[in-house]
Amino acid sequence: MPVYDLVVRGGVVLLPELHKEEKLNIGISNGIIARLSSDEMEAKEEIDASGSYVSPGFIDSHMHDEEKEDGGSIEKALLRQGVTTAIAGNCGSGPLGADILPFRKNPWTNLGYLTGHKKLREAAGATDRYLPAEQRQVEIMKDLLRKELENGSFGLSIGLEYLPNTPISELESLFEVAVDFKKIWVPVHIREDGPASVKATQEILDLAAKWPLRFQISHTGSMTGFGQLKEVLTLIDKARASGADVTFDCYPYDAFCTDLGSAVFDPGFEKRWGKGKESLEVASGLNRGRWLDEEGLFEQLREEEPECLIIAHVIKQEEVELCLAHPDCAIASDGLLKGGRGHPRAAGTFPRALRMLRKMGLSWPEAVRKCTSLPAEMNWLDKGVIKEGLDADLVIFDGERLCDKATFTDELLPPEGIKWVIIGGQKAVKDSEVLGGPKGKLMKRR
Ligand SMILES: [Zn+2]
Repeated sequence: MPVYDLVVRGGVVLLPELHKEEKLNIGISNGIIARLSSDEMEAKEEIDASGSYVSPGFIDSHMHDEEKEDGGSIEKALLRQGVTTAIAGNCGSGPLGADILPFRKNPWTNLGYLTGHKKLREAAGATDRYLPAEQRQVEIMKDLLRKELENGSFGLSIGLEYLPNTPISELESLFEVAVDFKKIWVPVHIREDGPASVKATQEILDLAAKWPLRFQISHTGSMTGFGQLKEVLTLIDKARASGADVTFDCYPYDAFCTDLGSAVFDPGFEKRWGKGKESLEVASGLNRGRWLDEEGLFEQLREEEPECLIIAHVIKQEEVELCLAHPDCAIASDGLLKGGRGHPRAAGTFPRALRMLRKMGLSWPEAVRKCTSLPAEMNWLDKGVIKEGLDADLVIFDGERLCDKATFTDELLPPEGIKWVIIGGQKAVKDSEVLGGPKGKLMKRR
């Protein structure tokens, strides 16, 4: 009888792809799930998971890890909540591989990167966010994108709200390159939030109907959760039913977070959100904790500290819940930290979403599917399920206690109820504390 490196014994194993749960033991050797069975197994080491759920490691399809020198803070915040695989570089911000990969040789989670439209533009010398790239610049962007995709980038990310006058023709020039590659996807932060988000979603759905590419509408709640969500979901459903390859994700908070200097805060935002500066809180930098309805602070910081992160408490909670509940909606954090500061979504998204989904009446396999096998399918990853032969990426949690603890004032507080996180067969987290050094792998698309 084989002796496994590690056996996870006696837990209720969640099999989201089969919509079921079952009491099973998991034998792990060489980082791989070698055996899944109710039989007894011999092991060098074991984890007693009785009374707990054993889930595939959570997959975060949408996060940000673009600060060269500070990968650890966001990766560890995600890891503590059970994320074992994360995809960075969303919303157009994915750096060129040469600029980031040398700094991510030993990530804390398994980590992959998307190539960002904005970064392609910058590399080609198109730096005015209100102007389209020139044709010669577009040619440079196409060559760069081809190289990045050849070198294992997971896809092309787009952030139209940040580059609001980008012509569709510029994107389509890049799609001409992207269609030559398999198993990539195109996540899009749509052009406008608020009332215009219906039109802005349709713009992407039209592209999805035309191009043989997979599109992912990013953080749908934060773009359309101002009264448009129901209409937007109907449009997405219709597009999917007619064969367009469109997916979407959402994070479980009624506040979003981005740079104050970005085009998101150009004049007119109060009208879009039906809320003003009294809803805007500084999350990073020297003025962290101040609110932007202080006389002159908005203008001053936008001028002097445009890179500081702002939390905008402007989304409708009931719309977020509507989005999360949709069977095709994946949970994704949009986690983003600067100097270790930011929005609690980086530390709380998955336990918070699971708790909300359970409250809505979903079974554990149904709820966990949105954090595991669904995003794995969306992102062409051979992960997200507990199956013999796959990487042993697991989360063992107490279903009664599982909840997020991170708040807007203490955004990195780890969740409760996460007993173990296993990455590639190695123990990476115990009782919400990170163990030892990084155990993730830098991933390239294969
Ligand atoms: Zn975004």
